[in-house]
Amino acid sequence: MPRTGLIALMMAAALIAVPLAQKPAPTFVASKPSAATPSSAKPSSAKPSAATVKLDALKKEALADVESRGQFSQQMVDQIFSFGELGFQEFETNRYLIDILKKNGFAVQEGIAGIPTSFMATWGSGKPVIALGSDIDCIPQASQKPGVAWHDPIIEGAPGHGEGHNSGQAVNITAAIAVKKIMEREGLSGTIRIWPGTAEELVGTKAYYIRAGLFKDVDIALFTHVGSDLGVSWGAGSGTGLVSVQYSFVGETAHAAGSPWRGRSALDAVELMDIGWNFRREHLRLSQRSHSVVVDGGDQPNVVPRTASIWYYFREIDFAHIKEMWETGDTIAKAAAMMAGVELQPTKVLGSAWPQHMNKVVAETTWANIQQVGLPKWSDEDQQLAKALQKELKNPRQEGLPTELRDGLQGPVQNNTGGGSDDIGDISWNVPTVTLRYPSNIPGLPGHNWANAISMATPIAHKGVTAGAKVQAMTILDLVSRPELVEQAWVYFRDVQTKDTKYEPLLRAQDQPAIWLNKAIMEKYRPEMKKYYYDPSRYKTYLDQLGIKYPTVRVGGSQ
Ligand SMILES: [Zn+2]
Repeated sequence: MPRTGLIALMMAAALIAVPLAQKPAPTFVASKPSAATPSSAKPSSAKPSAATVKLDALKKEALADVESRGQFSQQMVDQIFSFGELGFQEFETNRYLIDILKKNGFAVQEGIAGIPTSFMATWGSGKPVIALGSDIDCIPQASQKPGVAWHDPIIEGAPGHGEGHNSGQAVNITAAIAVKKIMEREGLSGTIRIWPGTAEELVGTKAYYIRAGLFKDVDIALFTHVGSDLGVSWGAGSGTGLVSVQYSFVGETAHAAGSPWRGRSALDAVELMDIGWNFRREHLRLSQRSHSVVVDGGDQPNVVPRTASIWYYFREIDFAHIKEMWETGDTIAKAAAMMAGVELQPTKVLGSAWPQHMNKVVAETTWANIQQVGLPKWSDEDQQLAKALQKELKNPRQEGLPTELRDGLQGPVQNNTGGGSDDIGDISWNVPTVTLRYPSNIPGLPGHNWANAISMATPIAHKGVTAGAKVQAMTILDLVSRPELVEQAWVYFRDVQTKDTKYEPLLRAQDQPAIWLNKAIMEKYRPEMKKYYYDPSRYKTYLDQLGIKYPTVRVGGSQ
């Protein structure tokens, strides 16, 4: 441990010595680290300073503390999995998290930025202010029994954690509680904030947090997101930013057979807009992604539809191109309204996200800790589940779960060809930020799907969360013990990241959080889902409560 602590110190020293913009991406050889395995680093002749020795001892203590809180983390993961709440409807999840945070000495401000299912929890005082965030919402129609390696919903058609957002708060809260204990005893200055990425699947809230000034005094944002590896990156990442816009049209009803000439169909405008956009798509940049759903297509065929709405995500890799796509969408909507002889209503922005840019200094600090923690030790059962699911999905390879850190520290992505978005992008352009990916899921899955829920209330998720919490705790200790890291993070933020690109919100002044979304779906499914809420007072794990043998995999090849 002390040797690898030295590596972190040497990395920091190297960073200060070389101008940040010119420093090539460091390459690290991923060793096979674990808390028990000594580092492969060469011994250094330099004697570690007293401060380094002390910090390493505190980190060691945090590692043991997080490990000892395994059951606490597991209960959080399983509980939130069982709530399975869609974006803006995370009422049970919020109540549950707020209760845990209050019990652990955090002051909690509820309903922040006009969002009922959101909060900002604060503990400590003084600098640095470190904000720990992770998403909490789930995916439509992703209900799934955990630990079962095929599509087997708990409730057919219900939402479920098919993105794994049930696990990130456990990473942050476990880490925060472990570090808080140490900070209290050592009298370390610092403030820890904990906040949820509410409605992330709608990229619905983080830009509003920024607009409300909630990150104005924050020094560093440490975000966590589930993955199938322990990893972190810096610079402009892969993926996109987006604006999410709903176009609604109003026409006039008429008897669709008796007097269709007296009606004007709003659905015609929706269909024409869809056709117009899909023709235009051929002439858009390769990095774009765009998709839509019809949220109102009329009432019944014999009544000319008076109202109709279509909802688009327009994704691109930079602010200017997102704005350009949005303008094109607006033009096509206006043209479609003219063709159909209906009115286009004022458009509604339902969400937005800047493309992400992660902080180099914080990423390097995190990476040094990742190398010390290493991947969890998977059991045969964990590997069996992973391989059976990969087979079920007809993946060309059934590689199971990774046993070695795969990717190394990732630098800026060249030739970004687009992909998903996360509104952590908005925070990353206001405060030095990184996203820690922790290994609670299985590689090779489609995403936003029942398959991604399978591991999320099993030992795979629990071990992944504990590994993530260890890294997070060590990184918080770095930041509160070494003020120069915070300073250097801001040097990168000011002199490199935001030198030529300044944050401008995609949100317009009139836009408000779309808190009505998903209300009807949750009202439909919640009564049935309540019967399956996890009860940790009666069952050790959610798998126990559901009576699922772990793992449940197909026997033989006949199915
Ligand atoms: Zn996500």
